[in-house]
Amino acid sequence: MQLLDGKKVSESLLAEIAVSVKELKEAGKKTPHLAAILVGNNPASEAYVGSKVKTCEQIGFASTLLRLEQDITEAALLEHIRNFNDNPDVDGILVQLPLPAHISESRVINTIDPAKDVDGFHPISLGRMVLGEPTFISATPNGIMMLLDYYKIETAGKNCVVIGRSNIVGTPMSILLSRNSNPGNCTVTLCHSRTQNLKEICLGADIIVAAIGRPNYVTADMVKEGAVVIDVGINRIDDPSRKSGSRLVGDVDFDQVAPKCSYITPVPGGVGKMTICALMNNTLLAVKGI
Ligand code: NDP
Repeated sequence: MQLLDGKKVSESLLAEIAVSVKELKEAGKKTPHLAAILVGNNPASEAYVGSKVKTCEQIGFASTLLRLEQDITEAALLEHIRNFNDNPDVDGILVQLPLPAHISESRVINTIDPAKDVDGFHPISLGRMVLGEPTFISATPNGIMMLLDYYKIETAGKNCVVIGRSNIVGTPMSILLSRNSNPGNCTVTLCHSRTQNLKEICLGADIIVAAIGRPNYVTADMVKEGAVVIDVGINRIDDPSRKSGSRLVGDVDFDQVAPKCSYITPVPGGVGKMTICALMNNTLLAVKGI
């Protein structure tokens, strides 16, 4: 079994992005600038936005973090997005999800200028991705493709099972893996909460991508020997042995599943790191051109 080390790979790819930023600056071009909007103070969202801003600093990007109150109106939030759309110094805009229930996620995403949609959630970005046209590809599935590419994992002709069909992870992942590209060319089965016989379907998989949001849901009896397992899940569970009283686990029961795998991503240190790396790459592309 080999670990797909998202930490190591993202560090190496971020170092390449940092070199590109330096070259842009030396050529008198503009510094990539990512603007992030955080509504409320959900601790997980705080942590995600915090590490995105920190990564910007590490690689020489400019960043703006706009913190807004939990009870901000949708109209006011949309106005902030439009201001970033109109600001020529801002290259990429991200609005950290989830949003409070009184705000429409889709109206927010639709308001972001597709030219600055570095999260790749806008319908124009998703549509272009489906058609195989150059665009911003959602960071998590794109980060997973980068990881597969880095480790030269053979995907062509493989049976791949994606569990979870969200617009931001499962669905775009299934499309990318089924495209005529490398990585890609998989035969993909997209599973969800209404899927019957999930265990049997998973047992036929050469590659499993778990994006469910349920701790340790994929167990060893669902995984065939030699499978590649990509764990997208980030779940906080109680752990009295830790000082914090909790720890992060994925959607895959790592300890039981790992011995059966050819490759597996750890949580943390796997897909999460790659997501940030892919977001930074999209922001660089916003400046250099897709
Ligand atoms: P969503 O809640 O939007 O989607 C979860 C999906 O899992 C749904 O399609 C749901 O099916 C499916 N599902 C739920 N229960 C089951 C089940 N018992 N069997 C089969 N399918 C099931 O989550 P996200 O896609 O946003 O995120 C998934 C996980 O990935 C979360 O843990 C999240 O924190 C993590 N995440 C990690 C990222 C990273 O960078 N590593 C980035 C984004 C997310 P249905 O559609 O039928 O409801």
